Amino acid sequence: MARPTKLAEGKLMAATYDAIVVGGGHNGLVAAAYLARSGARTVVLEGRHKTGGAATTEAPWPDAPEFSVTRLSYVMSLMPPTIINDLELERHGYKIYPMGPYYQAFPEGGSIKLYADDAQRNHDEVSKWSKKDADAMPQWDAWLAGLAEVLGPLLLTVPPTIGSRKPRDLADTLRLAWRHRGLDVRTIADVTRLMTMSIADLLDDWFESPQVKGALAVNGVIGTWAGPYEPGTAYVMAHHSIGDVGDGHLGNWGFQEGGMGAVSAAIERAARSHGAEIRTGAPVARVIVEGGRAAGVVLDNGDEIRARVVVSTLHPRTAFLDQVGENNLPADFVRDIQHWKTRSGVVKINLALAELPDFTADPGSNLQEHHTGSVEMAPTMEYIERAFQDAREGRPAARPFSDGVIPTAFDKTLSPEGTHIMSLFTQWVPADWNEQPHTEELEAYADRMIDCYNELAPNFKASILHRDIVGPYQMEQDYGLIGGNIFHGELSLEQLFHMRPAPGFADYRTPVDGMYYGSSATHAGGGVCGIPGWQAARAAIADRKAARRGGQARRIIRRS
Ligand SMILES: Cc1cc2nc3c(=O)[nH]c(=O)nc-3n(C[C@H](O)[C@H](O)[C@H](O)COP(=O)(O)OP(=O)(O)OC[C@H]3O[C@@H](n4cnc5c(N)ncnc54)[C@H](O)[C@@H]3O)c2cc1C
Repeated sequence: MARPTKLAEGKLMAATYDAIVVGGGHNGLVAAAYLARSGARTVVLEGRHKTGGAATTEAPWPDAPEFSVTRLSYVMSLMPPTIINDLELERHGYKIYPMGPYYQAFPEGGSIKLYADDAQRNHDEVSKWSKKDADAMPQWDAWLAGLAEVLGPLLLTVPPTIGSRKPRDLADTLRLAWRHRGLDVRTIADVTRLMTMSIADLLDDWFESPQVKGALAVNGVIGTWAGPYEPGTAYVMAHHSIGDVGDGHLGNWGFQEGGMGAVSAAIERAARSHGAEIRTGAPVARVIVEGGRAAGVVLDNGDEIRARVVVSTLHPRTAFLDQVGENNLPADFVRDIQHWKTRSGVVKINLALAELPDFTADPGSNLQEHHTGSVEMAPTMEYIERAFQDAREGRPAARPFSDGVIPTAFDKTLSPEGTHIMSLFTQWVPADWNEQPHTEELEAYADRMIDCYNELAPNFKASILHRDIVGPYQMEQDYGLIGGNIFHGELSLEQLFHMRPAPGFADYRTPVDGMYYGSSATHAGGGVCGIPGWQAARAAIADRKAARRGGQARRIIRRS
């Protein structure tokens, strides 16, 4: 550990490292692991008592410590093989159980299951609702796979500074265009449709059955302050459906053994194995900027820690407006961050269950295939839209939407034998519920959510042993998710790719020399994918190397 050194005159000199990572969420840990691996003396400063951020496993019930929940995020999908292999995460405890099918039981009776990789069974399931839709499914899957081939590799691409006339930026833009020279008119049209359409309109073009359309709409609204009729939700669906980011096929959606906190723990072990130091209970108050350059940070307790590289992984408003300060930033960048959209209206409900839901449509509380995937509450497009419209009109949804999962269908580490954990990712409450706790209203909202499931599985309500409700206020106050947005910023079109987090600064560098940015508010975030942390570390490592060679680190002011 780098300790303060005593100077001759008795003053303490600040601890010094090569690199400081602000925030010990999974992206901060990934950044630290890569920096330490490159030989940089690295420290992670995490404000909470533990690392992980939104990828955290916790025991929320003091009187029932034998139950652990994956408190916020709950499934893995987009972590690229490069990161898993470079950091040897499997050796450090990364272990994924592939999820079972998507499952929706319907109030009018019957159910549907959709499989990620079984066309025949999908055909059988969809045929129950529409023969025409069943026949359309293979083309839909192929269409999506074709788009994923284009979009997937883009997730690992550093966005160019589009519009800049600097030779280096122009070269980046041309390189990107050249890589996509094989695209034809039809593919470009399909990407354009995906980027601009609502998931509802897109699905209307393909399918007729309300049940099938409801099922396929779920990924279009996850974590989004938008109902399924909003333009742009088609892209959100694609973001969650990409299976390959260009360096090998990603695992299908899956549950980490031990919950998402175990993903963070595996990355933390990797970072430590390369010599990174991780400090929890170390909230950062501000970034030290000297002569336009990052020089370290000051903690809440006044301690100063110095380094020539500072990687921040906090929400952009916290990282830049609060910690760097407007006076150290260009005015247009400040304006962009002030205008950053960061709403979600998400409420996470974690339940301990005495037994599995016994669905009328598929009876039995014994473990069955439909318990092993996502157990949805999204019976139709109209149902999802109504939930959003309630919140848009200023009320919590009367009948909320939910993406539910039961990780204990596989993972026996989270609860005692015979019991289960169910995680409900629900939407929507009004966008401004990050400003007040709304405790009683959240309890009533959770009651309504549970009633919705109870209508489909009549043993559900009585099976609940404990419940934990995390609303937008708690997400902001306890986890630093400003506005309650689950991705540090909405995945809306104006906040994607070269615009994430601000035009001119999508390359994981910032207006402050020596400061890098790798939170989910950068390109490829959000989600527990590690790509932002990896890219920010790569940018810092490349600039350190260039500086050591006496060359010029890639510089800022790219808007001219
Ligand atoms: C309810 C919910 C469900 C989700 N579900 C999924 C899912 O199933 N799958 C998926 O892939 N993604 C999911 N996500 C999104 C995903 O969890 C996030 O995008 C991702 O975890 C963010 O990682 P990060 O490292 O960028 O930021 P964070 O995890 O937010 O980490 C930032 C860290 O900085 C710390 N910090 C804040 N302020 C300070 C300070 N002043 N000083 C020091 N440290 C500070 C925080 O405590 C935190 O640990 C979900 C998110 C939420 C909230």
